[in-house]
Amino acid sequence: MFLGLDVLSSQLSSWKDKALFTPGPLTTSRTVKQAMLRDLGSRDAEFINIVKDVRQRLVTLGSDSDDYTSILMQGSGTFGIEATLSSVIPSDGKLLILINGAYGKRLLKIANIHHIPATELTFAENTQPDIQVLEQALQSDSAITHVAAIHCETTTGIINPIEEYGKIVKAHKCVYIVDAMSSFGAYPVDMKACGIDFLISSSNKNIEGVPGFSFVLAHKEALLAAKGLARTLSLDLFAQWEGLEGDGQFRFTPPTHSILAFHQALIELEQEGGVVARGARYKKNYEATLSAMQEMGFQAYLKPEDQGYIITSFYYPEHPNFNFQQFYERLSDKGHVIYPGKLTRADCFRVGHIGRLGLADVKALGSAIAKTLIEMNIHISEKNEE
Ligand SMILES: *Cc1c(COP(=O)(O)O)cnc(C)c1O
Repeated sequence: MFLGLDVLSSQLSSWKDKALFTPGPLTTSRTVKQAMLRDLGSRDAEFINIVKDVRQRLVTLGSDSDDYTSILMQGSGTFGIEATLSSVIPSDGKLLILINGAYGKRLLKIANIHHIPATELTFAENTQPDIQVLEQALQSDSAITHVAAIHCETTTGIINPIEEYGKIVKAHKCVYIVDAMSSFGAYPVDMKACGIDFLISSSNKNIEGVPGFSFVLAHKEALLAAKGLARTLSLDLFAQWEGLEGDGQFRFTPPTHSILAFHQALIELEQEGGVVARGARYKKNYEATLSAMQEMGFQAYLKPEDQGYIITSFYYPEHPNFNFQQFYERLSDKGHVIYPGKLTRADCFRVGHIGRLGLADVKALGSAIAKTLIEMNIHISEKNEE
């Protein structure tokens, strides 16, 4: 049936979307969505000024030093990672990747596609990549010029010690690349203290914008060294930066609406009290989720000391009636979207703690899960309670 625009918009105004307990895209504020109700020309002064302010705010979130800059890149987070890896490693360079989950593996895939010489150090998904193993690898292979690590490995929700890796990477004079996609904006990151040369995140994670672009915080010196190294045209990180620094414009059509939303999201991040306050809200969501889930008998996959407050993996309950698809759909029908697992060795699902959600949403999710377990006739036995 065709709906007139007025009917559609009256439906929209009474519409409440499902709460997204996912790693992104996330639930965003109404005001962030409303910021998109404009049509700005990409070469218009107002838009160019907004881009400038966005870039400046991003730099400030990662450092108070002039040594850093930021680049916006069209596409999702992976595009920003691919832009970085394919733009900053020379043909005679070699990349070492620390892997403990699917996103680490993705870095390796990108390196392979671009024929970037790469080597990996792979660890179990419930384990942080070992600092001593990194040290030994850099000592024994002097060909390595770049090291890449994941901050929050969203596969499990584990937080990797990027500052400790950074000290070793810098001691070996390598360039340090960090995928901080799901941590940036909720975990304070000091680019300088961590020795990070390139940090990548995206518009639709903890800054609570909508999807459309990724961003890279870069040490200027490391970025300048990447001039002319790009393996693609559209993902050339240096050329993108040069354009933004020059006339303030994107080389190719920018996601104007998504940038307007992101600008509003950055203002709201500041209003909330910045990264520390946002992290504190997410941590409360995490703690409330964990205790509600444990009370119902669910078990978290990670040890509490490795677990971050971004996303948590829970084991499937050991009950013959449990079926993830059904569990997921019943929760979705009740207005709550959770996330499937991505682990290679364990059956898990994930619950995110990020986005414009608070304790009331977490409580509603807990009630919905309890109700769903009753509907599915699942009784989780209490076990392994230490
Ligand atoms: C979300 C995420 C990405 C990027 O995923 P996209 O789907 O391309 O946005 C990359 N790394 C990590 C750790 C992530 O959480």
